[in-house]
Amino acid sequence: MKIALLSRNAELYSTKRLVEAAEARGHQIEVIDPILCYMNINHNALSIHYKGEELSAFDAIIPRIGASITFYGSAVLRQFEMMNVYCLNNAAAIGRARDKLNSLQLLARDGIGLPITGFADKPGDIPDLIEMVGGAPLVIKLLEGTQGIGVVLAETRTAAESVIEAFMGLNANILVQEYIREAKGADIRCFVVGNKVVAAMKRQAKEGEFRSNLHRGGTASKVRLSKEERQTALKAARCMGLNVAGVDILRSNQGPVVMEVNSSPGLEGIEAASEIDVADTIVQYLEQQVSRHQSKQRRT
Ligand code: ADP
Ligand code: GLU
Repeated sequence: MKIALLSRNAELYSTKRLVEAAEARGHQIEVIDPILCYMNINHNALSIHYKGEELSAFDAIIPRIGASITFYGSAVLRQFEMMNVYCLNNAAAIGRARDKLNSLQLLARDGIGLPITGFADKPGDIPDLIEMVGGAPLVIKLLEGTQGIGVVLAETRTAAESVIEAFMGLNANILVQEYIREAKGADIRCFVVGNKVVAAMKRQAKEGEFRSNLHRGGTASKVRLSKEERQTALKAARCMGLNVAGVDILRSNQGPVVMEVNSSPGLEGIEAASEIDVADTIVQYLEQQVSRHQSKQRRT
């Protein structure tokens, strides 16, 4: 196959591993920076140019579109879709997963376990918002946060009120969420490829911290998933329409609850912790999907 990997940075671990895995299986793969692509969108003349030349026909696209370039990166991905190239994750699914509020609404509608969650911009009645999600302790999150920054644990109602007021002062959208204390500072990353959870890791927060992010000093290790956890992860990925997804779940007394579905999950932590060649698994899945996609096109 001839594969384009859409990524801003060829030096990232995940990018390098996917290139390695594709080449090891005899494919041709090129890393393309989506920001540098420019496109012709005329009927019958759909094309994409890159560094002064038209990109020739690809069989498949692996999008690794970072949050900061969601808008333009998705436009480039959609152009490939319009040109009938198979895309590992499509732009609509990536957009759905990027919008955290929309994701939670869709997951809730499908009956997937979630921590009790409220969201607000300028709640007119903060005590009522707190009441609505079951009272303190609460986790309050800035919608735009990543790597655990902007995620605060408020142990008491008074603390929760002050944090919500402070975040309101920043003109930020916030999530107010039931604190899953029984998760004991651990979350589970489930790496979904197609209809399987191909690898999983447990991230444990350092002593005295409830956020398990590796960037916050958390450590990753191998974990065995229950059947219910696998099913939850698969349902969440399917709900978003993602073929490849990183589903983060917490182990609650009510069973697994989903925190987030990531459309460009990193490979470094998960490959090290699970000792599974996730990049190779992705490329094998891509081979199956492309061959299906191409035979379907020949029939129509
Ligand atoms: P980010 O997207 O910035 O990583 P998360 O929402 O994933 O933010 O939260 C960071 C970490 O905080 C999670 O990995 C988890 O360990 C912990 N955490 C988040 N929400 C809850 C919650 N409702 N209950 C318990 N722990 C939580
Ligand atoms: N961004 C990483 C991922 O999606 C997570 C990093 C962290 O947990 O700090 O796998």
